[in-house]
Amino acid sequence: MSFTSAVKDEICSTADMQTCCYHAMTYGLLLCGRSFGSTSMMLVTEHEGTAKMYASAVEKITGRAPVLKGAESGKFSVSVTKKEDRLKVLEHFGVSERMVGVRINRSNLAEECCLASFLKGAFLACATVTHPQKSYQLDFILPFLHLSDDMLKLMQELEINAKMTKRKGSYVIYFKSSEMIEDILMLLGAQSSALEIMQVKIEKDVRNRINRKVNFETANIDRSVDAAMGQIEAIRKLRASGKFDGLPEELRELATLREENPESSLKELGSMLSVSLSRSGVYHRLNRIVSIANSED
Ligand SMILES: [Zn+2]
Repeated sequence: MSFTSAVKDEICSTADMQTCCYHAMTYGLLLCGRSFGSTSMMLVTEHEGTAKMYASAVEKITGRAPVLKGAESGKFSVSVTKKEDRLKVLEHFGVSERMVGVRINRSNLAEECCLASFLKGAFLACATVTHPQKSYQLDFILPFLHLSDDMLKLMQELEINAKMTKRKGSYVIYFKSSEMIEDILMLLGAQSSALEIMQVKIEKDVRNRINRKVNFETANIDRSVDAAMGQIEAIRKLRASGKFDGLPEELRELATLREENPESSLKELGSMLSVSLSRSGVYHRLNRIVSIANSED
């Protein structure tokens, strides 16, 4: 199932609604469908629950169930085929036949609570949201400029700042910020989907941090191997020149351990000494050995 369908399932399952909000939601659902006028009134959707909700809303208004078709392409279309039914629906939402539904008639949004409900219906009819694993993208795709202008204003009242663009003859109100998409989904009652986005974000973040840490540690290991090779070379030089036996006892012991354990860390070498020594103590002694080797001639 697509992420969009999961969100729409969640929205459809928020069934307990006040009468005012149900009216506002069905208005959004019908208005933002493919067409909403006296000559044509229909919705095309990939989401079966949305198609059923559209059909049931129309039936409640007209007393007649509209034609619901499930095409092989996986899309559902619901069409109000009789003109008298279309006129009943328009009248129900206070839209005159000549006005056609290209604006939002605010008289259908009676209370403060109805704005979000209207948006629920609009989302079901015309929005898509990409799975957060892929990218962060939520689009409302509308057929008319004035309708999308009205939608932008309504969103602003809900403190949703949107951007609009034109794409393939449609007007697209889009969001690319994950925080904004989470906020919208919460507002629409799709809490689980909002949480899923947060979850994916956390996983991505942890994975990035682990990768950075692994890279950092690999670089450190490379550095310590290089250092050990340099130390061993210095010790061989001291042996070759006969100066090794002249080294102070504590340096000779460490130099021998280093030769025998080229892959050991400084901490490990420290614990092998007859009197154990800290990491930084080992570091300083090895540096002394190297500088004696380099300064001998
Ligand atoms: Zn309401």
